[in-house]
Amino acid sequence: MSGLQPVRGTQDLLPDAQRRHRAVIDTARRIAERYGYQEIATPIFEFTEVFARPIGETSDIVTKEMYSFKDRGGEEITLRPEYTAGIVRAVLSNGLTQSLPLKLFAAGPMFRYERPQKGRFRQFHQIDLELIGAGAPAADIEMIALGAEILEALGVLARTELELNTLGDTASRHAYREALIGYYTSRSSGLSEDSLRRLEKNPLRILDSKDEGDKRINAEAPGFEQYLTPEARDFFQKVRDGLDTLGIAYRLNPRLVRGLDYYCHTAFEFVTTDLGAQGTVLGGGRYDGLMGVMGGPETPGVGWAAGIERLALLIDEPPSPPRPIALVPLGEAGERMALKLAQSLRRAGFTIDLGYSGNIKRRLQRADKIKARAAVILGDNELQREVAALRDLDTGEQSEVPLSGLEDRLAPFR
Ligand code: ATP
Ligand code: MG
Repeated sequence: MSGLQPVRGTQDLLPDAQRRHRAVIDTARRIAERYGYQEIATPIFEFTEVFARPIGETSDIVTKEMYSFKDRGGEEITLRPEYTAGIVRAVLSNGLTQSLPLKLFAAGPMFRYERPQKGRFRQFHQIDLELIGAGAPAADIEMIALGAEILEALGVLARTELELNTLGDTASRHAYREALIGYYTSRSSGLSEDSLRRLEKNPLRILDSKDEGDKRINAEAPGFEQYLTPEARDFFQKVRDGLDTLGIAYRLNPRLVRGLDYYCHTAFEFVTTDLGAQGTVLGGGRYDGLMGVMGGPETPGVGWAAGIERLALLIDEPPSPPRPIALVPLGEAGERMALKLAQSLRRAGFTIDLGYSGNIKRRLQRADKIKARAAVILGDNELQREVAALRDLDTGEQSEVPLSGLEDRLAPFR
């Protein structure tokens, strides 16, 4: 019965997996807050146009990967495939362009119709950081430093390499684009169909192609370097100097591109070899023209997104949840007592498990199974004497404790 299977490319995050995801998100949020970033949440779906134009009609996302549908009111809707366009839409909808620069953090699910494999899903999750309204190289440096810091705190920085490139300014990009059109036209017989289409609309994107034939042609494509204007060169140098100052190592990768006109200057990715083909854990760059493309005032921006599933595969086991204390009532008076005691102990900050039924043996077995640290046994006899039996489940030691002093005696098992 296919109805009992999750949809292909989606997965349940059972408690152990979800704890890993939470560890990634909590660490990222904590560090982002230290840099002055505030959390934002935008809707999981938007009007399709919010994504279609900004992400671009030649991109894989828009041509093949978007979950788009008409809703019951006839609106064209898309489940978000990435954060930036929705966040910029939110900035414009809420008039936040009055309070720039904005430093925003977000984390949540994304949807792309891709071929599922290790580290690649149709519903996946991203951490996202955006710095909107800052056009100086210092903003690019901060963004990359923040990414490195989060990866470091997650214990995965040492397993990644930072790749860096520049897409220059508008003038540089136009000159480079011409050079690429010339080159690819001369090699067009070897290009994939997708790339032939890109050649007309967006040749820069060919550099990013995953097609093997395209890759061979890309290997000899002209580099960006010689087409950079002095201003663009200077901007890139400042970013590199900042990274050097912070001791953040990187490798220049002239093939690292984002294909759209509003992307400019810095592009970067943190890549690992530990995840097979899905090596990019974090990617981002500068998008100064995006706000304008979306109908807002020209406003610079820089940001990145990281895949939580991929990071969750790389981190160490996060700390386990606190071990509970099991309350084991025997008899009616014990049940009543346990109910009240569970309430007061939980209010006092203890993690309490209260079984619902069963004899003492069953209940102690359950206490064992949930790895309870101790059991408090509440028998009718004991209760008449206002005491309970406290059993240390690690040592097996058992002692009688007056109910009035129970909280103090439990403190070491917290
Ligand atoms: P890729 O080259 O792996 O397809 P991308 O360029 O499409 O990545 P971005 O759009 O830059 O990726 O998204 C940022 C990050 O989100 C990626 O570096 C990756 O960690 C993660 N990511 C992207 N697509 C998926 C997916 N389908 N499943 C899981 N994680 C993903
Ligand atoms: Mg992709």
